[in-house]
Amino acid sequence: MKIIDKPRSLPSIHQILRDINLTPLIREYGILIVTQCVQTVLSKIRKKIILKNTITYDELVKQIKNEILGVMESSLKPVINLTGTVLHTNLGRAQLPETAIQAMVDVARGASSLEYDLENGKRGDRHRHSEELICRLTGAQAAVVVNNNAAAVLLTLNSLAKRKEVLVSRGELIEIGGAFRMPDIMSQAGCKLVEVGTTNRTHSEDFDTAISTKTALLMKVHTSNFEIKGFTKNVSELKLSNIAHNHNLRLVTDLGSGTLIDLETYGLPHETTVNEALKAGSDIVTFSTDKLLGGPQAGIIAGRSDLIEKIKKNPMMRAVRPDKMSLAALDAVLKLYLNPDQLAEELPTIRLLSRDLLELEDLAKSLVSNVQGHCTEFKVVAAPTHSQVGSGALPTDRLKSYAIKITKAKQKQSSKSLDKLAKAFRALPVPIIGRISDNALWFDVRCLENIEGFKENLKGLVIS
Ligand SMILES: *Cc1c(COP(=O)(O)O)cnc(C)c1O
Repeated sequence: MKIIDKPRSLPSIHQILRDINLTPLIREYGILIVTQCVQTVLSKIRKKIILKNTITYDELVKQIKNEILGVMESSLKPVINLTGTVLHTNLGRAQLPETAIQAMVDVARGASSLEYDLENGKRGDRHRHSEELICRLTGAQAAVVVNNNAAAVLLTLNSLAKRKEVLVSRGELIEIGGAFRMPDIMSQAGCKLVEVGTTNRTHSEDFDTAISTKTALLMKVHTSNFEIKGFTKNVSELKLSNIAHNHNLRLVTDLGSGTLIDLETYGLPHETTVNEALKAGSDIVTFSTDKLLGGPQAGIIAGRSDLIEKIKKNPMMRAVRPDKMSLAALDAVLKLYLNPDQLAEELPTIRLLSRDLLELEDLAKSLVSNVQGHCTEFKVVAAPTHSQVGSGALPTDRLKSYAIKITKAKQKQSSKSLDKLAKAFRALPVPIIGRISDNALWFDVRCLENIEGFKENLKGLVIS
């Protein structure tokens, strides 16, 4: 074996490029990127050799290969979400139904009628695509789709309350993940936030007295990721809308994770629907489409047509408009809601959230021996657990579920061994993400549907 211990013993770039081990990589990825990777590795190794390290020629080529594969590997890739959080923001939220995936592929591949009126052969309106469906499903007079719900809130506030005051209960001044803080959004929208009431209790009279000539809106924000318990009081949408309308003001409701249907039908806890919020008198409702709704990333603004018109005319609209693939997927998802009887089968979000506990238990148990076979140093069992909806929907509700639970087999095993194991699962061809708690690594099987794929994937597990 050729050992390289002096800088001048390093092969030249040209010598390395002629190595037969690199030929297939050059053919696949091109000479340019391979040459760059050879340069990167050579300069790294040269520094090490100067510090008296040595390397074999074979190891050098191996490092170059890994460098090339590392560059070509995408950092955004599919994973298997066994965290127990169904709508996991860090893992891409809702899984799309096949019809939506196909719709995205179709518009991605070629030209589409995105902003083209096929009947008149003229420029059309990007915003017309889902509006009718949204109105049909929510009872709204009009609607517009934007890039996400944060944009929906920002655009609504800026369109309807710029340089004016917006009243919000102190208990609803939320921060959700990723630095979305209601007070910051207000100031970026050019509105003045007026906090009403106290953190735990806000009364109708608090709103009445806070209203001034500068007030434009009353706002209700769904407290997405927490619940205040104990001595609390909140003003309902109905009361708020009465107060707003008595003063000739508008009520805007940010539902966060909007749902279009009564989730109790699917055995889930109740969550305010968009229709309910509108019926209670909200003039505008904003919500995400990749949370409980189960669609692609987008946000919907729905409500009174005169207000939607105003929002559509905001110059910022252009900066937050949705892309054609999201619109195509959203349209396909909304169509599924036209037949709620099929929803639990066809829409992955509802299907996963309403999965039968016995089925989950059977699934977890059936996988124990397979997983145990790959983790011989550990103890693998099936155990009950709780899933959560995630993305701020139904924040305190837990869904009974089942998990594959992995613990250390021996006391003397290092305390880091579970972390290492979790890392090994994350290094699989399709990374498997679980969660560590109570000295165990848990894989909640609620979101596991491709069982054969899971087993095949597990064969690649390397525990160091
Ligand atoms: C999730 C959420 C948002 C932000 O929605 P995105 O679609 O993530 O932009 C805003 N408000 C509330 C109450 C939310 O729950």
